[in-house]
Amino acid sequence: MMHRMATGLALVLLALSQSAVPALAQSEVDVYQGFFPYEVHRRTLDNGLDVLVIPMPEFKDVLSYNTLVMAGARDEIEPGKSGLAHLFEHILFRHRFEGEVNGYDEAIGKMGAFNNAYTWFDITYYHPTTFTSNLEELAKLEAERFQNLDITEKIFKTEAGAVMGEYRNGAADPGLRMSEVRLKAMYGDYGYGHTTIGYLEDVEDMPNEYEAARKFYDDYYRPNNCVLLVAGDVEPEEIFALALDQYADWKPRDKPDPGEAPPVNGPKREHVNWATDVPPRVQVSYRMAAHATGTKATAVGQLLPELLTGDTAPLYQKLRSEKQTCSSVYLGNAQYESFGPGPFVLGATLFKDKYEEKGEPMLDEVIADMDTAIEELKNFSQMPGASETLESLKSKYQYDMLSGINSPADAAENFYWYYRFEKDIDVFDQMVESVKALTLADIEAFARETFVPENRVVVTLTHTPEEDAR
Ligand SMILES: [Zn+2]
Repeated sequence: MMHRMATGLALVLLALSQSAVPALAQSEVDVYQGFFPYEVHRRTLDNGLDVLVIPMPEFKDVLSYNTLVMAGARDEIEPGKSGLAHLFEHILFRHRFEGEVNGYDEAIGKMGAFNNAYTWFDITYYHPTTFTSNLEELAKLEAERFQNLDITEKIFKTEAGAVMGEYRNGAADPGLRMSEVRLKAMYGDYGYGHTTIGYLEDVEDMPNEYEAARKFYDDYYRPNNCVLLVAGDVEPEEIFALALDQYADWKPRDKPDPGEAPPVNGPKREHVNWATDVPPRVQVSYRMAAHATGTKATAVGQLLPELLTGDTAPLYQKLRSEKQTCSSVYLGNAQYESFGPGPFVLGATLFKDKYEEKGEPMLDEVIADMDTAIEELKNFSQMPGASETLESLKSKYQYDMLSGINSPADAAENFYWYYRFEKDIDVFDQMVESVKALTLADIEAFARETFVPENRVVVTLTHTPEEDAR
């Protein structure tokens, strides 16, 4: 009898909570259908947490549960405190779920989840993938570590030490050192002036920064600074109900202002002497404008990697085939798809044997070839076949934009990457439309404005025997 009554009461409460609460605590649902190959459903909780659901029923019983935190190197504004965003990428896995040491890690391990995270200039992204049967338990685990992280100072120190190990491993790669030198020259003390792992001296000091780290979590791990994206074999309404249940009490807070990037005051040129015997490298970089969906500058940025380093690009042909000076030529747009003015980095790795023959003038030769390619963009309409090139790049762009989406995890990641800028649910259509609308004159105008000496930093790296290295 008592049991029956209690059940009846619970049912009444449940009915109340379902009818009364949702209308108050979250927005209406927006449903997107367009160029992106899946529907996206969105609700925003009253505390500012965007909840996005990408139903992909063909991936039966699988879901990807993703939390985007808008905290990265750019937000590490306090001197001596670089690397905190990345440190949290580690620390969050050490959450004492239900007070148990390694509680989070063990609980998620039992789900057979693939669980990882990464940090970049502006963001930290957590992306476990598991079976839909684990959805409720996973939501509880994730909600808890983002809202009520439970770690001790001892756990913190251990993890900070692990990051030092990661720095040492990374330091074996000349790429990290080149990035450090380039970013410092380009951005100075602004957050983009260091890599996501942080300055060496800050990483060394990290075990002593428990209080600063707590403050970082408090400032940035807030619903209005996060996006929850669930993709896979899920129903939007079930996810919205879960999100309301798990995240509605999370208190919003405005995050600190990361400030403005100072001017580069270029041109600058830096050289790195490298003690181990590696092929020489060259990077020509320019500060770009911040990403702004729909603008011409951002649309041109989408085409630059193909335009300069695609298989048919004149520069690629020259360095790889005609002169055979370089084993690789690269330009990645993820570098400059940023909240702030990110870097355009045109890089190349030189053939070692050729360099041993020709010596240092070969660095200048490669830089000159890169400069020629960049300069040609300023008069792009004069290039033979320019119109045809532009049209084929536009269609390749649309094709490439969707070709990487092969799983719920891919869908969520691709979507958030552009969604985060303006939080427009039809961002993919805006990107495609703005690229389609580009003219030859737009490319020229962009190149003339961006590729100027004031914005320029060149970094070279060559092997120098130990005794001469810095
Ligand atoms: Zn790491």
